[in-house]
Amino acid sequence: MRKPFLLTLLALALATAAPLRAQDPEASDAAKRPMPVGPLRRDWEAARDLHSAANPAQIRVTHMDLDLKADFAKRILEGSVRVSLKKADENLTTLLLDTRELEIQSVEAGTGGKAWTKAEFQLNAATPFLGAALQITVPKGADQVRIAYRTSPAASGLQWLSPAQTAGKKQPFMFSQSQAIHARSWVPCQDSPAVRVTFTARIRTPKGLRAVMGAKNPPPGPKLGDYRFTMEKPIPSYLLALAIGDLDFRALGKRTGVYAEPSMLAKSAKELTDTERMVAAAEKLYGPYAWGRYDLLVLPPSFPFGGMENPRLTFATPTILAGDKSLVSLVAHELAHSWSGNLVTNATWRDFWLNEGFTTYVERRIVEALYGRERADMEAVLGYNSLQGELKSFAARDQVLHIDLAGRDPDDGMTDIPYEKGCLFLRSLEETFGRPAFDAWLKGWFQRGAFTSRTTADLEQDLTDTLFKANPDKAATVHLAEWIKAPGLPDGAPRPESKAFAAVDGLAKTWSGGEGRADALPGKTWSTQEWLRFLDALPADLSLDRMKELDRAFGLTERGNAEIAHRWLLLAVRHRYEAAYPRLERYLVAIGRRKLIKPLYEELAKTPEGKLMAIDIYRKARPGYHPIAQASLDPILGWKP
Ligand SMILES: [Zn+2]
Repeated sequence: MRKPFLLTLLALALATAAPLRAQDPEASDAAKRPMPVGPLRRDWEAARDLHSAANPAQIRVTHMDLDLKADFAKRILEGSVRVSLKKADENLTTLLLDTRELEIQSVEAGTGGKAWTKAEFQLNAATPFLGAALQITVPKGADQVRIAYRTSPAASGLQWLSPAQTAGKKQPFMFSQSQAIHARSWVPCQDSPAVRVTFTARIRTPKGLRAVMGAKNPPPGPKLGDYRFTMEKPIPSYLLALAIGDLDFRALGKRTGVYAEPSMLAKSAKELTDTERMVAAAEKLYGPYAWGRYDLLVLPPSFPFGGMENPRLTFATPTILAGDKSLVSLVAHELAHSWSGNLVTNATWRDFWLNEGFTTYVERRIVEALYGRERADMEAVLGYNSLQGELKSFAARDQVLHIDLAGRDPDDGMTDIPYEKGCLFLRSLEETFGRPAFDAWLKGWFQRGAFTSRTTADLEQDLTDTLFKANPDKAATVHLAEWIKAPGLPDGAPRPESKAFAAVDGLAKTWSGGEGRADALPGKTWSTQEWLRFLDALPADLSLDRMKELDRAFGLTERGNAEIAHRWLLLAVRHRYEAAYPRLERYLVAIGRRKLIKPLYEELAKTPEGKLMAIDIYRKARPGYHPIAQASLDPILGWKP
């Protein structure tokens, strides 16, 4: 996923209060039995997942067949899932699945797809943010279970958009966001990244709409409302993905393409023309792309994240469509997940940095291969500065890569720490061992762990057995435990630098200090990254006159580039530059990407009059936001849903 949002102290306080109760598999009858002896045992114990009630060590789901109908009037999915089971011991009869706000209509058990009989089940009490465990008694001999169910209109993993909330304004839209633990709000499943399944799906929609999934999609023919999908590679549940809308397709290359609403398709295809080259660059570094096709889906603007690495079909925010490919590092990021995350997965949400730190590192290597070292350096510096900001404001325990998430929503761990600190750790290994040795190790890590889920301990063991063993002198200088288990950054941690930024910093200083006119700045030739740096480098006491002058020279208030506009609007709030307020409102109503809107609401909420304005805007904007974004924003504004 790209990109983290700023963790607020408030969200932290709320999250830490939530207890873990009935969700603990130890509490179930099945878990009281001795653990089965066999190859599964060590893996499942090491990868114990506090955020799932499932019991894969006893009975594991290996495959799912989904059959769902989308009802846009009721804003629900309705139908069934048939799950195939592997039992560690034939005497085990209790299957535990995760659910959240699902209405379970019936449960049957079968053998070899036949002999279906009613199965006993109960839905345990719900726990905050974890949902309710579905406990099913599987008769001896049965190897499948079929569950008929429907989702809630408030399902945390689904967003239903009215036609007015789409680009085309004529048809409704829905999309899923399963990471971290939202798959359970639309499919009863073993919702842990340690459990991988293959699946098929049949999705029925109203005519005129197209369903797409993170799977093998049918060829993009007419929109008849009945679609079938297969995913032959085993994936963790957080990668289950479905979107439905007035979607058309355009090929970008032999194995790459883009889906978008018709009015967005040409613009999207133009911005994403480098996708095929990106796949080739990543393959050159890390070995063959394992998933067949790589397509992208450009979503309506309410998508709460930058992108989501759903296998074979990255979901992306339209805010990356800057018009000049300056924000496509997001595509590099999501593509990188095809190795770090989708191929080698974090086994629990504590190990999330194995996904995102590795992905941020690989993303910058792809950017370097395609756009050169200078651009990669600039992005590394922007990331480093963002990380420094979080290290200053976070409690020590939240600065740790191998974070303790007991009793907390895993979404709370999605900060810059796993992304940027994780990336710096890999960069420090690259600097210590040299690029050739490090690259060979990283490629090997992806090959050795392909289609498995790994813990932080697995990584430490792998490094010890391979890269460190081959280079003992260099290994002696690596502070492995400090990187992984301590807050802050170890002494001697890499500090990315950019020559281009040094020049921008100088100009920000002299110009804001009163030297020269704004229209004499070389802003017309600056890249997006240089603009971001310039705006970041302006001092807190910048005068309103200087703001006006800069705006007049470069039209910053009306910039279409969502990242530059974000930085500028942040300054506008800070300096009460009221000329930008109408644009601020339009921006907040039009965009739902959490990383871009949350800091603006936070800045507004710092003053009483700003907060009133924020609440006024939020009233108009909130219905268009995703439940995940709403959950982050409500506490900032004291909003009672
Ligand atoms: Zn990511």
